[in-house]
Amino acid sequence: MPYESNLALGLTPYTAGEQPKDRKFIKLNTNENPYPPSPKVEAALQGKVDRLRLYPDMEATALREAIAKVNGLKPENVFCGNGSDEVLAFAFAAFFAGKKLLAPDITYSFYPVYSQLFGVDYQTVPLLADFSVDVDGLMQGCPVALANPNAPTGILLDKVEVRRLAAHCRANDAVLLVDEAYAAFAPENAVDLLAEFDNLLIVRTFSKSHALAGMRVGYALANERLIQAMRCIRDSFNSYPLDLLAQSAAEAAILDAEYTAKTVGLVVAARDKCRAALTAAGITVLPSCTNFLFVKADPVDAKAIQLALRAEGILVRHFSAPKLAPWLRVTVGTTEDMEIVTEALIRNIKR
Ligand code: PMP
Repeated sequence: MPYESNLALGLTPYTAGEQPKDRKFIKLNTNENPYPPSPKVEAALQGKVDRLRLYPDMEATALREAIAKVNGLKPENVFCGNGSDEVLAFAFAAFFAGKKLLAPDITYSFYPVYSQLFGVDYQTVPLLADFSVDVDGLMQGCPVALANPNAPTGILLDKVEVRRLAAHCRANDAVLLVDEAYAAFAPENAVDLLAEFDNLLIVRTFSKSHALAGMRVGYALANERLIQAMRCIRDSFNSYPLDLLAQSAAEAAILDAEYTAKTVGLVVAARDKCRAALTAAGITVLPSCTNFLFVKADPVDAKAIQLALRAEGILVRHFSAPKLAPWLRVTVGTTEDMEIVTEALIRNIKR
């Protein structure tokens, strides 16, 4: 008999983008923020070392209050976890374990992994020809997980459509999970639908818009009943998912709305400028409401372009799944980096 459980032997884990250690790259492969966190984060971390001997506040009270305030909600509507990956994992366990779950076939590739881990019957619905989400196809009377804006396409599903899907799920006693990891870069989000739908769970992260990927902070927004189910899973796994420093850093970051608006604005402007330049050069780029662009390398082999860019010191992401294989996902970096990357993409794709 093997040492490993059948569960461990049967899993196909998620593959994260490369985190290089050998040399300096223009790093546009994991959708990190190119700007540092708010200066208020550094200030918030000062003088906290002596408090590390104590366990952190397991309810992350101050952080949840800050998140609630910024979103016009109550702290009871907020759940915090160790990155939105963990929050998503808890949500899969809390609402989808043992059930059928629908998701678009092109979406965040962690969803099938959590499904395997928690015994979810994960079924996919193909995107439409223009890479948008097939809302009617997702209406099959069962729970739905949706990244909005979607990843790695970057396309935003209109709030009217999210509402339609939430209503369908509600009528079937099913949860709609909307993963808003990139919503800060989009013109709208689903937060005001929370007042209407007790089956809506919105998941967000500090990793992108708040430049805190290294701190691992994510959160969910929902009706109190759903938050209670998330806490039940958390307390059956790890009661202290967020350390003291992460709670302080995230609180300072979310309260500095002015800084976030400024840095998100720079990313959005660089994104739109890069897309316009690539499109003008005849390259297909999907319309993005995120901090990345999905760029078609066709007719050149996308993997070969990824390697050519790497040799030039630029990291971008390539996914080998057949539908994604002709494309490259390019994170939006600083204004200066994007000038270099735009030129390199045009030169390599149009050669
Ligand atoms: N959701 C989506 C759609 C993502 O792309 C990512 C980043 N890989 C995450 C969630 C997880 O982000 P984090 O765990 O850093 O909060």
